[in-house]
Amino acid sequence: MIQEYQIRVQPQVAANEQALRSWLADEYGFDVRTITAVRILRRSIDARQRTIFVNLKVRVFINEQPQDDEYQHTEYPDVTGRPQVIVVGAGPGGLFAALHLIELGLRPIVLERGKDVRERKKDLAQIAKTQKVDAESNYCFGEGGAGAYSDGKLYTRSKKRGSIEKILNVFCQHGASTNILADAHPHIGTDKLPRVIENMRNTILRCGGEVHFQTKMTQLLLEGNRVVGCMAADKEYRGPVILATGHSARDVYRYLAESNIELEAKGIAVGVRLEHPSMLIDQIQYHNKQGRGKYLPAAEYSFVTQVDGRGVYSFCMCPGGFVIPAATDKEQIVVNGMSPSNRGGQWSNSGMVVELRAEDIDGDDALRVMRFQEELERNCWQQGNMKQTAPAQRMADFVNKRLSYDLPKSSYAPGLISSPLHFWMPQSISHRLQEGFKVFGRQSHGFLTNEAVMIGVETRTSSPVRIVRDSETLMHVRLQGLFPCGEGAGYAGGIVSAGVDGERCAEMCAAYLDS
Ligand SMILES: Cc1cc2nc3c(=O)[nH]c(=O)nc-3n(C[C@H](O)[C@H](O)[C@H](O)COP(=O)(O)OP(=O)(O)OC[C@H]3O[C@@H](n4cnc5c(N)ncnc54)[C@H](O)[C@@H]3O)c2cc1C
Repeated sequence: MIQEYQIRVQPQVAANEQALRSWLADEYGFDVRTITAVRILRRSIDARQRTIFVNLKVRVFINEQPQDDEYQHTEYPDVTGRPQVIVVGAGPGGLFAALHLIELGLRPIVLERGKDVRERKKDLAQIAKTQKVDAESNYCFGEGGAGAYSDGKLYTRSKKRGSIEKILNVFCQHGASTNILADAHPHIGTDKLPRVIENMRNTILRCGGEVHFQTKMTQLLLEGNRVVGCMAADKEYRGPVILATGHSARDVYRYLAESNIELEAKGIAVGVRLEHPSMLIDQIQYHNKQGRGKYLPAAEYSFVTQVDGRGVYSFCMCPGGFVIPAATDKEQIVVNGMSPSNRGGQWSNSGMVVELRAEDIDGDDALRVMRFQEELERNCWQQGNMKQTAPAQRMADFVNKRLSYDLPKSSYAPGLISSPLHFWMPQSISHRLQEGFKVFGRQSHGFLTNEAVMIGVETRTSSPVRIVRDSETLMHVRLQGLFPCGEGAGYAGGIVSAGVDGERCAEMCAAYLDS
């Protein structure tokens, strides 16, 4: 017999399978020995009251064994000799496009400017050691894209349930824990992601696709209004092009603009990384001086308000994580966050950002928001002593417009330097952050504190440019055979939505080749 139940249990019961079996047996009157397996289908934490509960949807197997896998398996056929499609960029957009092309019987040729996911890690370690950023191998460029060394959060505001589940199942097939299928806020963790990404690459190679690292696309090959391939590392690659180069490939945007390929400026959000001791966030969110205890995960938070007609909100929260240097070139500072799978670090961080619309920047050219980003990142680098040491300020000092006398310890490995962010950040951003922090401090007692440090600047929240495409065919509005894809195209934000967009572009590319 198989039964499904929606239950509400204490964290210590949810955390231990034996305890859960006993609880189910007591609650529903079974003999505990007859329960052969319990599968958790949905899991969320209810921390609204002082007593914390875990809501679970469970499938209980009584006197029978589960017959199926915990995830849905996708078949990837051999595509040797099949028509080829060029996929530029091996981030989630490009990787999911490549895997889906294989499902559809097409041969992906993946071109990636950075290194493979393991080699890349060495360059990331060098940033803190040497204070230098490799412009081709960094937190945004390299196999796995911007999502590889991240928190691996897999939730999205998108409502396309079927497509999202497909992405999560493909991750499981390539080695991610099946917990991601159950958790309300799933995440993989930066320690686990590289292996998953390698497995995805191996599927592409095993099926007859190709993956080329340190192979930067520099030019599209055009025949009239048709894209028939591209140049990369001085070599020609022929086929329709899925362009999944992410939000940080500024050289790509510049090349497209110079080639008069239709683009438009897009709004982004800009601000700082805010880092608190994770114990403090746990105490606040779980209403308990002892913090989260043994059975609860590091607490999350989410804030949003409006100040002077623009959104101010927390973004990409990394409980128990690190603040990392995410610049893609030498003379810039950009911060972001990542967490390991256990989210066990001493600090919890999130982006605290202000909405910036394209109309907020003077001018009408497509690259103006990107230029604003660049200027702010360069200014931040100058404020940070022209190294990767990031300018920082205690949170309450920032709100009270005071320079911080000293700074708390931080997870940011290249180091911090005290700086009056309230003074040099654009006023439209700093004023809204100050007002936003006051609101968040009133909503959540203890959140607005000098124990928290703000680290500048967070600018790569999404793409500052949209590569304009047709909403039906997903092809560029003018150029046949070019499929702008994922975050860099301005049609996705986050790992899952970039993956979903990659799959959609693969489908449209297959339809194009069929027509
Ligand atoms: C540190 C960090 C943490 C993040 N954490 C999360 C998170 O927890 N959850 C979440 O949902 N999102 C997170 N994000 C955002 C997420 O990573 C992106 O939304 C997602 O990776 C976008 O996927 P993409 O494939 O469209 O682009 P990208 O991941 O940016 O991939 C683009 C790829 O194209 C390559 N490329 C660029 N130009 C060229 C060229 N000319 N030729 C060849 N290759 C090229 C790049 O090297 C890169 O590998 C994080 C981002 C960062 C930087």
